[in-house]
Amino acid sequence: MTITYEYYHSLYVNLTNRCSNACTFCVRNKHDDVNGKDNLWLEREPSLEEIKADFEKRDLSKYASVVFCGYGEPAMRFDDVIVIAKWLKEKQPDLPIRINTNGQANLICKRDVTPEMAGCIDCVSISLNAENPEKYQKLCQSEFGGETAFSGILDFAARAVKYVPEVVFSVVDIMPEAEIEACRKIAQDCGVKFRVREFIK
Ligand code: SF4
Repeated sequence: MTITYEYYHSLYVNLTNRCSNACTFCVRNKHDDVNGKDNLWLEREPSLEEIKADFEKRDLSKYASVVFCGYGEPAMRFDDVIVIAKWLKEKQPDLPIRINTNGQANLICKRDVTPEMAGCIDCVSISLNAENPEKYQKLCQSEFGGETAFSGILDFAARAVKYVPEVVFSVVDIMPEAEIEACRKIAQDCGVKFRVREFIK
């Protein structure tokens, strides 16, 4: 069972295969791994003890950052993400911790979780994917519906900037230029950074 895996210079954490979206482009639809070696399908979700034990096998000083990002949405286990992030901060205070997310944590948890990231999460990278609810829902098929999901993502980002040093909306580089620019404007309006990332085929 792959709980942590190396990807580029960072150590990634695979907590769950559950997700509130069913994105048409999700890498999970095509591959079992992202780094060419570690199968990210979990036969069951690892316990907190198993996650900690997996980290104990790693030399954390080797990595540029720890990233919560597996074959599923980390916010499906938001409380456990925070427990592990706090534990890691005690072990290795200088190691940056990022969550790669669909931005639906507040909808998933049914509360505003953004204050809980203060002091333990250094970066939240949110996949925006589209410039309006209709396009978002067509691409991402959120269980919350397009309107609720899209407005929830923008609200989550705007709240998160108060507690997390770096909040980023990301889009993939295969989007039409006009849509990328519309997303850039949304990021500006929410007060978050914007990044165009490479699409993983
Ligand atoms: S939000 Fe991420 S994990 Fe979930 S379906 Fe979309 S691409 Fe896949």
